[in-house]
Amino acid sequence: MDSITLYDNDKMAKLTIKRLSPEEEFPDLSQHNNHMAKVLTQDMYTKLRDRATPNGFTIDGVIQTGIDNPGHPFIMTVGCVAGDEETYEVFKELLDPIIEDRHGGYKPTDKHKTDLNPDNLKGGDDLDPNYVISSRVRTGRSIRGFCLPPHCSRGERRGVEKMSVEALDSLSGDLKGKYYALKNMTDAEQQQLIDDHFLFDKPVSPLLLASGMARDWPDGRGIWHNDTKTFLVWVNEEDHLRVISMQKGGNMKEVFNRFCTGLTKIETLFKDKGTSFMWNEHLGYVLTCPSNLGTGLRAGVHVKIPNMSKHAKFEEVLKRLRLQKRGTGGVDTAAVGGTFDISNADRLGFSEVELVQMVVDGVKLLVEMEKKLEKGQSIDDLMPAQK
Ligand code: ADP
Ligand code: MG
Repeated sequence: MDSITLYDNDKMAKLTIKRLSPEEEFPDLSQHNNHMAKVLTQDMYTKLRDRATPNGFTIDGVIQTGIDNPGHPFIMTVGCVAGDEETYEVFKELLDPIIEDRHGGYKPTDKHKTDLNPDNLKGGDDLDPNYVISSRVRTGRSIRGFCLPPHCSRGERRGVEKMSVEALDSLSGDLKGKYYALKNMTDAEQQQLIDDHFLFDKPVSPLLLASGMARDWPDGRGIWHNDTKTFLVWVNEEDHLRVISMQKGGNMKEVFNRFCTGLTKIETLFKDKGTSFMWNEHLGYVLTCPSNLGTGLRAGVHVKIPNMSKHAKFEEVLKRLRLQKRGTGGVDTAAVGGTFDISNADRLGFSEVELVQMVVDGVKLLVEMEKKLEKGQSIDDLMPAQK
């Protein structure tokens, strides 16, 4: 047994706590299927246990969500989170291999490219609205100088909220809008926003709960949206900010245009306040979940493909197009009536424009396949190559 001194600058409050050995503390990961459990060994744990970020985030904070949520035999979760910007550097022995695994071989020496110029997107204004119900692009942003949601204090969380609302309230024109704090919202207002797919869910997901992101709920959380509800910002959900552009129908170009314009304006507003978003050349935009690093971008449509989704090659087609599927109620939901949320599978190593392009091209192909299947025709000649 060893011990650490937490407090030696104030002799009056000196506090020494006893620590058990790393062997005694090492989690039982024998039943686990997540990226963290695959990478973490007892030796690594022993080494990383002696470290903390400047904000006091430790290895146990990083891995708790992956310990409490073993994962699923077929769905590999990440199993860890960042508590602050420095987490990715301080615990890189664990996080680099996880990032490499999760992001298709992305190496510690690789550099990420950002492209938020919507003019570089080809097409995208013509997804068939008979099939594509709605289009959406979202990303996350973290404000430098504040801990991330798994580790921030109440005061920091309120600081993020205050700074964000001040910035957002100065948007004008199409982007003029209003902030709704969760704690002031009536239950009816909240339910309406959830039904509209505009609001983030109350934290019931064990992944969010175990990582500490639901602490003090609903303090410091809220949603800002423009008057037409096409541009939204979630404050203090899984990331400091989640910026979302969405609308009914299949005009992904318009959605992406608004996304880029709004995001660039927000970035400028934060710069004017003397702060910036967490970003570096290697990881791109730094976010809470390692799976969201890079662009943090998920461009998706709700699309009705009852025939295609039952086809034996559905999974294979998605894989080749580098797309993923979800239910339309959010990440943990099942699809109902053949309507799916189809979005880009990658976040890191491709630019924003490249990812949206994959969704535009891929969804067009899926709809074309759906139309063939409706007529009882084969889709063999439409099978795409691996992207
Ligand atoms: P993310 O984490 O990318 O924001 P989730 O799967 O957690 O996405 O979903 C969050 C909310 O956004 C859910 O209410 C979901 O129904 C809604 N949503 C996601 N994609 C679309 C879309 N293309 N059109 C309408 N609503 C969407
Ligand atoms: Mg989510």
